[in-house]
Order: sequence, then C-alpha cells, then structure tokens
Amino acid sequence: MSLRLDELCAASYAELRQKVLLNRLAAPRRNPAFLPAAASSPREATTCMTTHTRPARAGDQSYLKRLNRSAILELVRQEPGLSRAELAARTHVTKVTVGTVVQELLDEGWLTEGTLQHGGLGRPGRPVHLNEDRHVIIGADVGVQGLRVVATTLTGRVLTRHVHDGPTGDPDTAAATLAALITAAQNDPAARDRQLLGLGVAVPGPVSQPGHLLLLAPNLGWRDVPFLDLLSAHLPALPGLTLLENEANAAAFAESYLRGRDAPDMLAYLSLGSGIGAGLVVGAPEPRLLRGAGHLAGEIGHTVLQPGGLYCHCGNRGCAETLLSGWAIRAALGIPHGPLVEAVNARLDEPEVQVTLRRAGEALGLLLTNLNHTLNPSEIVLGGPLTRLGGPLMPAALDFFHEHQHHLYATAPPTRVQVRTDSTLLAARGVAAQVLARTIRSAESGVVA
Ligand SMILES: [Zn+2]
Repeated sequence: MSLRLDELCAASYAELRQKVLLNRLAAPRRNPAFLPAAASSPREATTCMTTHTRPARAGDQSYLKRLNRSAILELVRQEPGLSRAELAARTHVTKVTVGTVVQELLDEGWLTEGTLQHGGLGRPGRPVHLNEDRHVIIGADVGVQGLRVVATTLTGRVLTRHVHDGPTGDPDTAAATLAALITAAQNDPAARDRQLLGLGVAVPGPVSQPGHLLLLAPNLGWRDVPFLDLLSAHLPALPGLTLLENEANAAAFAESYLRGRDAPDMLAYLSLGSGIGAGLVVGAPEPRLLRGAGHLAGEIGHTVLQPGGLYCHCGNRGCAETLLSGWAIRAALGIPHGPLVEAVNARLDEPEVQVTLRRAGEALGLLLTNLNHTLNPSEIVLGGPLTRLGGPLMPAALDFFHEHQHHLYATAPPTRVQVRTDSTLLAARGVAAQVLARTIRSAESGVVA
C-alpha cells in the first residue's frame, strides 16, 4: 500500500518517515539513477551494494521532493496517459508541484508526454507516459537447463534477449557464462545507448533477504551460493541496483506488476519445470511477495502428497516433486538427458507415458486445490516447461481442481487459473521489473551511501 500524498502534506516529516517505514516492510536499496542529480555521484553509483539506512531529517526538502517524484512516477506507471491535472487530483498535491515534478521527470527522461487532449479535468492536458527510450533494465534467469538474459524498457518490453541452452553447470561456470550474456545484452544495439538502471537475477531456489544468498538450488546441487558476488567478479563496472530473487517469485511478480491496475489482489504462480516452485504476491498494483519466516514460502514442490512414497532429494518421502516434476517424469520414463518436453511428446501414444502424465496431472490438481484452500488467491498462473507437455497432464490437473475447489464453500467465487505455455522469459522480465519497483520506491527509503 503506498502513502497518499495528501497524507504527506498533512503530516510532519518525522511522521511521514514513520509511515513510510511502516508501509515498507523491507527497505529497498537505492538506485542513484532516480535520486536528484546532486546525489548521483560516481562514488555512490559504485557503492550502492553496501548502502545503509539513515532516518530522514525533519524539514528535509529533498526528502519530500523524492517522495513526490516517487509517487508521481509510480502513478504514471500504474495508469499511463494521465494528465498533470489528473495526477494532481489523484495525489492531492497542488498542480504547481505536480507540474514542477513532471517537468523534471520529463527533462531527465523518465517520462514522455503526448499531444494536447481535450475532454479531461479542466483545461486540455497532455497525457504522460513512462519514457520507453531512455533507460534499460537487465533481467537474468538461471535455469537448471539454460540461462536467459533480457534487456527491458520501463514497461517491461523486451528490447533484446540472449540465451544459453544446455546444462547450467557449477556456480562459477554459470556466473561466467551469465556474465557474458549480460555483457552481450548491454552491448546490443537495442540497449547500449540507454542508461542502465540495474540488474536482477532469478535463481531456482530460495534466496535469503536481504542477504542475497541463494540458500539452496536442489536441482542444480548448489547450496549457500553468493551468486551475485560470483557474478560481480565478471562484471566489475556494472552500474545501478543489483538484486537476487527466487525464480518463481520473479515470475509471480511479473504476472502482477506488469499488469498495472489490472492485476488481481492476490496471485499465485506455479513454476512447473525440473522442480516445482510457487511465487505468491499480494496487493495490486504494487505487489508484495510472501517470503515466509525462513524464505521458504512457495516451496510447494516439497509439500508431502504421498506419505511413505518415493524419496525426494530434499530427504523427505512422497513430496509433490516425486510425482510431478521434470526430474520425476524423467526417472519414470527413462529419459536421463536432453530436452524433456520434446522426448515425452514424441511418445504420447505409449500407455506408460499416459499413466505417468495422468498421475502427474492429478498431483498438480491436488496441489492447486490445497493452495486454493490455504491462500485462496484471486488467480493462479501455471508456467514453466511442463505446461507444454501434451497428453493428460494439464487436463487432469484442471479437471481435478475444478471438481474440488467448491466442495468446502460452494458459493465462493471461482479462482481463475491461467496456463502460460510460453513463460520462457517471464522470470527474467519479473526480476527486471523488481529492479524498477525498487528504483521507484527508493525515493521513499531515505537510504544513503
Ligand atoms: Zn522434497
């Protein structure tokens, strides 16, 4: 929930600071690119990884200025095309102040404005949009079978993509390969003349916050990996904000954040790949991730569906991943290497394949039912390579879910389920969107170098 600007004007600066902190459960790291020009020194740009929080001083005009910039930029992101008068009406800030801030953001390349429009509030006004031509954000996704890098605009539009297909390898190898892809994206003609806001990296496992440590990536065999540190050794001059995020969290964030005002109040994203993970976001249009006390929220692949069942690599028996995951399907069908989806889809007429996929689909339907009864999200999105499997997997899952979702409370509104058969770049786009979200919010944090 964001702080309304009429509250800002009515409260003292100390009260504002307290409200901001209450509304920001985790203080984001600042991106110097969004601060007023005087604060964007080269030194700060190179030390943003080690920033700390300083309380704003009462009467700190630059602090209130940053709040105004943050609120207006966020509102334009959520509702592109608002005029200055509409921005003033929505934020309860004077038209003069809005005009000043908007002009600054136009001059700095954060916003663009269209031609004069009639029919809005009061006098004709120009619609204001995020500037798609000035900045670039890089998002990266470390998969179990490959690496993906995108360069995006402020609205999440992909300018260029660079992909490595094949085994990811050990952390050092993956960092070196990923750094080469990131450098290629930076130097791509579509991105090289833009100002880089930062880099987000999605990884297939839980991540400590704010320690930015990949705690565990079981399908890669990695544990306690400071992946950003490994990466930075290959990218010493990379400017801007850098963050590490769980892959399913990043995809869930993309599904919510990039929809703006159309995002559902609560969304769950299930990543169906070599492993099974979930990302959970609440709040729209400024989504918050549910991380859990030990950063394990969303590790839905290790909920036990079959007590005494097959051993899982986590050490338990009968986890969802032993029935529904890329590695479980590989093991059941004897496909140790190579592209899984293509191999399975080529054998759909085999009874063994049908049985394995139906059993996996019923496990997925059970997961969806339990998830719905645990969190009751407005929408569940299914993504990841397993959504491209033919045969009975997905129909069995959806049938099971639809048959069971109303048994507890028949009049409850139905939970919408969407299937993304192409989610290849979703996590990379999502973690890039997180960089933008933290950049915008950084103006409220009072974080200094
Ligand atoms: Zn497990």
